[in-house]
Amino acid sequence: MPIVPPVASPHSLVDAYAALAEAPARPIAGGTDLMVAITGELGEPPERVLDLWRLDELRGIAIDGDAVSLGALTTYTEIRRSALCREHLPALVEAAATIGAAQIQNRGTLGGNIANASPAGDTLPVLLALDASIVCGSSRGERTVPAEEFWTGYRQTALAGDELVVRIRVPLAAGRETRFRKVGTRRAQSISKVVLALSYRDAGPAATWTDVRLALGSVAATPIRARATEVVLEGRLPTPETADQAAETLAGELDPIDDVRSTAEYRRLVAARVLHRLIREAGGW
Ligand SMILES: Cc1cc2nc3c(=O)[nH]c(=O)nc-3n(C[C@H](O)[C@H](O)[C@H](O)COP(=O)(O)OP(=O)(O)OC[C@H]3O[C@@H](n4cnc5c(N)ncnc54)[C@H](O)[C@@H]3O)c2cc1C
Repeated sequence: MPIVPPVASPHSLVDAYAALAEAPARPIAGGTDLMVAITGELGEPPERVLDLWRLDELRGIAIDGDAVSLGALTTYTEIRRSALCREHLPALVEAAATIGAAQIQNRGTLGGNIANASPAGDTLPVLLALDASIVCGSSRGERTVPAEEFWTGYRQTALAGDELVVRIRVPLAAGRETRFRKVGTRRAQSISKVVLALSYRDAGPAATWTDVRLALGSVAATPIRARATEVVLEGRLPTPETADQAAETLAGELDPIDDVRSTAEYRRLVAARVLHRLIREAGGW
């Protein structure tokens, strides 16, 4: 028999924090992950639910100092339609367009993808590659956690029990290029087999790459940076030789798992091929 847990629906962040300080509750944003588990038929159902949908403090996309700030309740549709995101965060727009299909994009949120902490969460490698930070809040105040430190284990995060993801800050970086690719079984409603985000700075078409960051999802218990491959790419031009070396290094560096969606060997080979192709596209050869 499905269980319907009690739901609190605060209208302000202060009230939400107070509710979480008083008794543990599972936040719900768009519900596209949580509703799958809420009846208890697929694991432990939440005892209490805290509905975040009315918290306007968790909405909005804006430039805030040297970063783009996205409220935790920002949906994928909002990301896709945002002129700011299209100008400054095109890889996040690309990732948003691959998530689920229209219904999921209208309801699913960036904060939910981050807090859900699935290694297959499609925005997570983009946030790692863009050096984003997650602002977490509670009645004790706010703190900023670099994306690098946020996903601490399989479906584990740095959030304390009474904390919410409040917003995501992505630094504005002049000259930074970011490339995104998701591999799934089809174009829509597909969970990633491999997802990859590559970012770098260059000063023009013939300039070497610097500040290279390569992040992958669905290849480990958490989204990861491929640091050995980043070293290969740093200070290089996107030539065929660079692409061969980087792809080979990535294949050696990854240690994926076999699961229902794919084999480890497929993930390793595809990740290397996708990286090779991204470098080729960047190099225009
Ligand atoms: C049919 C279908 C297709 C999907 N396709 C994709 C896909 O292609 N790629 C992909 O990455 N995901 C996919 N998903 C998963 C899901 O849509 C995303 O992870 C989405 O971003 C979750 O956001 P949400 O607002 O719906 O989260 P919810 O379901 O509301 O919450 C998810 C988790 O995060 C917690 N949470 C939510 N917001 C906060 C917050 N602000 N602070 C703290 N905790 C919070 C909740 O307690 C819960 O544990 C799919 C889901 C479905 C049902």
